[in-house]
Amino acid sequence: MSQTLQIERANELKHKPDVSTVQFGTVFTDYMFTNRYTPEYGWSGASIVPYQNLQLSPSAQAIHYGQSVFEGLKAYKQGDDILLFRPDQNFKRMNESLSRLSMPEINEENALNALYELLKLERDWVPDGEGQSLYIRPFVFADEPFLGVRPSETYQFNIILSPVGGYYGATQLNPTSIYVEDDFVRSVRGGVGFAKVSGNYAASLLAQKKANELGYEQVLWLDGVEQKYVEEVGSMNIFFVRDGELVTPQLNGSILPGITRKSIIELAKYKGYTVKEEKIHIDDLVEDIHGGRVTEVFGAGTAAVIAPVGKLNIHGVDYIVNDNQVGEVSLDLFNDLTDIQYGRKEDPFGWVVRL
Ligand SMILES: *Cc1c(COP(=O)(O)O)cnc(C)c1O
Repeated sequence: MSQTLQIERANELKHKPDVSTVQFGTVFTDYMFTNRYTPEYGWSGASIVPYQNLQLSPSAQAIHYGQSVFEGLKAYKQGDDILLFRPDQNFKRMNESLSRLSMPEINEENALNALYELLKLERDWVPDGEGQSLYIRPFVFADEPFLGVRPSETYQFNIILSPVGGYYGATQLNPTSIYVEDDFVRSVRGGVGFAKVSGNYAASLLAQKKANELGYEQVLWLDGVEQKYVEEVGSMNIFFVRDGELVTPQLNGSILPGITRKSIIELAKYKGYTVKEEKIHIDDLVEDIHGGRVTEVFGAGTAAVIAPVGKLNIHGVDYIVNDNQVGEVSLDLFNDLTDIQYGRKEDPFGWVVRL
């Protein structure tokens, strides 16, 4: 069943900045999507309204007990067209996150349609410079004013949009450095690691700060129980090129199932690579980097798409991968995936939605 979507026009539109100078997540477009859940009406009142502050009680449950989930995806411009990459997957995952936090699921089809309408209204905000895109942030949180511990009865579902420049500036891929964290953990099996919940990020910030202070850009998490198995990096999944094959940790409940991860696996298989999803012991990784079997390491997520890793600190020792240069496989997959996302190459998978 399709929803009726109200549109409230803004009196005045904002000045659009030069996206190449905009810092990630600081500029927002003229409009946002909003929708509210109540036990009486379910999700209702779907509307597109001018971007504005939210009305919130100081006792709103999300603030106190953390019922809050989000998603992240991008829209790309090609000529006058807006291209989206597998947006259905984001709302599907959002429902998995909602379900884990005892929050009401959204109607995925309605959410997609609302996003399409919002983007059509904001077409001019989708930047068309090299590596630029419009970042889309759907999020749901509990807004019932109540301090008792139980699932909230009311929720808000909003979508906001923010123009972003290339993650590493223009098209250039620069190898990043990661610190393998063996003290703090991000999540455990049975917990909420597989869900895109706000609290996972709160829990990761201290380790991120520690890694930065030690001179590394990102954290690589090990499993939360034995702290022996490789899980993922900050807000990216991780891949290794080992003996010419692509290897990534298998999903186990504590790893976030990235849409970029899944797409890279499908794309790589299509291109004829052998892809393996397995448990990766950190000691084996050390041995394989040392012995030259692991020739490339890269992170994969919506923000950077592919982020080559040139240096890893494992248990206090620095290991350099591929001479701290961007590897062939990383570049090959980056080019193919971004060509599909930006509409520069045919999409054999039916991943791209064109508006
Ligand atoms: C969002 C996210 C990813 C990457 O997922 P994509 O769908 O590829 O953007 C990886 N790890 C974590 C912890 C995340 O939150």
